[in-house]
Amino acid sequence: MSRFFSSKFQALTPYTPGEQPKDTQYVKLNTNESPFPPSERVAKSAAAAAAGLQLYNDPTCSALSKKLAETLGVEADEVLLTNGSDEILNFAFMAFCDKDHPAAFADITYGFYKVFAALNGVPYTEIPLDDEYSIRVEDYLSLGKTVFIANPNAPTGKALALSEIEKIVASNPDNVVVIDEAYVDFGAESAVKLIRKYDNLLVTQTFSKSRSLAGGRLGFGVGSRALIRDLNTIKYSTNPYNVNSMTQAAGLAALQDEAQTKANCAVIRENRAYTSNALTALGFSVLESKANFVFAKSGQISGLSLYQQLKARGVLVRHFETPRLKDYNRITIGTKAQMDILLQNVREILEEQS
Ligand code: PMP
Repeated sequence: MSRFFSSKFQALTPYTPGEQPKDTQYVKLNTNESPFPPSERVAKSAAAAAAGLQLYNDPTCSALSKKLAETLGVEADEVLLTNGSDEILNFAFMAFCDKDHPAAFADITYGFYKVFAALNGVPYTEIPLDDEYSIRVEDYLSLGKTVFIANPNAPTGKALALSEIEKIVASNPDNVVVIDEAYVDFGAESAVKLIRKYDNLLVTQTFSKSRSLAGGRLGFGVGSRALIRDLNTIKYSTNPYNVNSMTQAAGLAALQDEAQTKANCAVIRENRAYTSNALTALGFSVLESKANFVFAKSGQISGLSLYQQLKARGVLVRHFETPRLKDYNRITIGTKAQMDILLQNVREILEEQS
């Protein structure tokens, strides 16, 4: 730390992103990326936009906002595109939380919520998941706090039904409830259809997972016009050009390829069932996942040892060495061929172990 670092950030522990190793070609199942590259249309559109990089990008993302709104069945002024969904989540902490509106989220959830709260000086409460790693809806009713819920949750993959989400939103009318739907396209129900009914609901989604654009950094929020206006105030007070022109073009092209996105999601769901069944047959407990990853623990080997041995064999999964997570590993669902490599290595490691 330099002697110039503001005292308000000196205690900040930044988020640790999953490993992105460049040394070895891993079977990379650690950061919930799509195993499918973007379509040729996406690649060509981004390349065409690169030819105009001498000009500033459109700060309103007008073509992309219009197409996204049409895809979601809302109006363009009910959406806001951002640099990944991490950015809209940070904007939500900035816009809707302070000492009078503290944040609340699960104790086991996306690790960035805590960091955004700390970054913005927002007090927060962590609400424990139950013994089955589920969110207890009762704990979120009439909370009087700004609520953040990942649905499906990470790293568990478990999802709440839309009726349960609605109960939480309806019971907190004077606080914003943010539903982070980064993984919704893999099998959960979206709350987007509720945004006109509840002016306190903000739904966030991303192009990083189902739309194969993690490296493009494109996410968005959907909510009432008033909420979106507030978030725009934050955007235009930080970085109006937050979504670069190549990413705007790539995002627009990806939305023209919705059929491809749906087909890719169907393959991931199939491979998820295949992997869950195979791991269960190998003695793992696997939480029921609605996301593009599974959270699994072996009865035979510690989570850390399995992670380390898989890594030594060229298969990268995500391990969290915290008390309630350390027996598990989070495994991204890839292609069938990738899952077969994972499963073969798991079998060999377990055999060596016994
Ligand atoms: N929410 C959740 C629950 C996530 O797991 C992630 C991915 N790390 C994000 C949001 C942010 O993703 P991105 O910024 O790539 O849209």
